[in-house]
Amino acid sequence: MNENELFQAALGLLPPWLVSRCTFSESAARLDIHLDFPRGGVFPCPVCAVFCKAYDTDELTWRHLNFFQHQAFLHARTPRVQCSRCGVHRVPVPWARPDSGFTLLFEALVMMLAKSTPVLAVARPVNEHDTLVWRIVTHYVDAARAKADHSTVTQVGVDETSIQEDRHRPRA
Ligand SMILES: [Zn+2]
Repeated sequence: MNENELFQAALGLLPPWLVSRCTFSESAARLDIHLDFPRGGVFPCPVCAVFCKAYDTDELTWRHLNFFQHQAFLHARTPRVQCSRCGVHRVPVPWARPDSGFTLLFEALVMMLAKSTPVLAVARPVNEHDTLVWRIVTHYVDAARAKADHSTVTQVGVDETSIQEDRHRPRA
């Protein structure tokens, strides 16, 4: 297994995606993994799921989990497909959500840290600006809120009100 195959397996990439090359710079403390797909690779149309050939591509980059103490980045020419029924659409990549500069695994790490740590304190060890960390946290909190179902809630308690209530309660 060469290094490309190793990273391909570690990233869990499925065809047509593959690792085309990796560059590691000790002085820059970073690993860059370049992803690609073979010429003629087909992708499902994001609207109707019919497989189409790549129409054109955009070079995109995502911050990934660190490689030991080194920052790691994924780069890929991400395709758009031209579906005869649905028109031209960018194909979603399996390792990141659309318009995020981070991989899903990096975002999962941020969300795990943010459960117990203020966002500013999460930003420091992952070496990102806190506004970018907020963007990740806000996305997942909004998504969770949108899914929450409060239709069976019949009572709501608010702490400060409860304290007030306690004051008026006769002491035992
Ligand atoms: Zn389509």
